[in-house]
Amino acid sequence: MTDADVVIGLEVHVQLDTDSKMFCGCSTEYDDSPPNTHTCPTCLGLPGALPVVNERAVEYAVKVGKALDCSIAEDTAFHRKNYFYPDLPKNFQITQYDSPINEDGELEISVEDESKSVGIRRAHMEEDPGSLVHKGGSIERSSYTLVDYNRSGTPLLEIVTEPDVESPEEARAVVDKLREILEYLGVFDADRGGALRVDANVSISVDDEEGTRTEVKNIGSTKGVVKALRYEVTRQKNQLKRGGDVQQETRHYDDDRGVTVTLREKAEEKDYRYFREADIPPLETSEYVEEVEIPELPDERRRRFREEYGLSREEASKLTSKKAVADFYEEVADVDSDLAATWVVDELLGELNYRDMTVEDVDAEDFRGLVELVDAGEVTDANAVEAIRASLDGRQGFVEVVEERGLGVADEGETLEACRTAVEENPDAVDDYLSGDDEALNYLVGQVMQATGGGADPATVNEVLREELEGEG
Ligand code: ADP
Ligand code: MG
Ligand code: ZN
Repeated sequence: MTDADVVIGLEVHVQLDTDSKMFCGCSTEYDDSPPNTHTCPTCLGLPGALPVVNERAVEYAVKVGKALDCSIAEDTAFHRKNYFYPDLPKNFQITQYDSPINEDGELEISVEDESKSVGIRRAHMEEDPGSLVHKGGSIERSSYTLVDYNRSGTPLLEIVTEPDVESPEEARAVVDKLREILEYLGVFDADRGGALRVDANVSISVDDEEGTRTEVKNIGSTKGVVKALRYEVTRQKNQLKRGGDVQQETRHYDDDRGVTVTLREKAEEKDYRYFREADIPPLETSEYVEEVEIPELPDERRRRFREEYGLSREEASKLTSKKAVADFYEEVADVDSDLAATWVVDELLGELNYRDMTVEDVDAEDFRGLVELVDAGEVTDANAVEAIRASLDGRQGFVEVVEERGLGVADEGETLEACRTAVEENPDAVDDYLSGDDEALNYLVGQVMQATGGGADPATVNEVLREELEGEG
């Protein structure tokens, strides 16, 4: 093989975070419910039941379209995609075919500081099928399978990229960036399991000649995207090296084994017998397009953070990858933008993460109070860290903890008194120091730091102790 290029196109299925399903009033909060309790004639596909489009889902689709710079169709319609599978009670999925709501968009990604733009072919609305529960774990080992229709009819947005993605790492960047944008738009619950699923199309082009592609279905995580694609790229390259052909097929990624396996021959478009969903009238979008507004997006916000607050690329990036963290930082930033970034990125986020908490669990105003104390030199760095830990452990305010535990800096009087006490109570150390043992001073400094709860400034303590000891000598 002379010149082999990896060609990847992604189909990303995103559950839109609406209260009710795409075409009926059933609640989408089914994660903790018994199977088949969030159902009605519509999402069970019973004869005569009629679908009604969820307005919120349309609004969210328009939001995503705007964020991805798509052209948004003024008139859009739904189609039936016909296939038989037990999780699909109607034997068709309502989706969008030749008039998707969003087309021709763009997504900026960067991998190792190289930026590029990936085309978005379309982003259309559809419904999720139900889910199959294989008793005993995997499909191969289970003795029977149950069907749960709670998920049936949950709104999905399928975002389809152009085959512009050139490596598994770029694919990861696409998924991560989409995740970030969706989270900023508030249309997606990033913490919900299975809320984002990826189908990856992969081919190897040799000397610019297009190769046969396979489609790896249903990859559930960002890590999975990279692993599945690395495996599939290597498999195809090996196949070609041996002089074999790549078969056009649908493959399944087995996360446990880290391999992709043949699932079925790829279904062709004609197999799906698409036709208009006549139960849903054409949908005019102009009202939504006019009214829907989108917030500042992660890339813009990163740029602004670097300019406005003088942050490094790394800090800006850590502070903006989640909207809630960026909002939190901005409530603290005006104390001192550098100091605030350091305390949020280096200390708070780590301590929160360690305790499985998020910035949403703490009060920005209160944290700002702590950063103000550090900025004014009224709390030492070490004590501020202690305050953060104690506050998160005890679910108590940061400033409150500082006050309650006396973590504030000792004033001059307190420091002097603590130094005098240390000298009085440690005659041996004093003698050692006076007979030339400098180590003894460190011991005395330690005593003072302990007595002031770490609140004294070590340099000042050193100085005061030397003066006091001179008096002794
Ligand atoms: P289908 O209708 O068969 O699903 P599409 O042409 O709509 O195929 O494309 C589906 C996905 O496959 C898109 O994400 C697209 O970018 C990707 N794709 C198209 N051609 C290739 C290729 N040669 N190699 C890899 N992916 C491709
Ligand atoms: Mg699809
Ligand atoms: Zn329903």
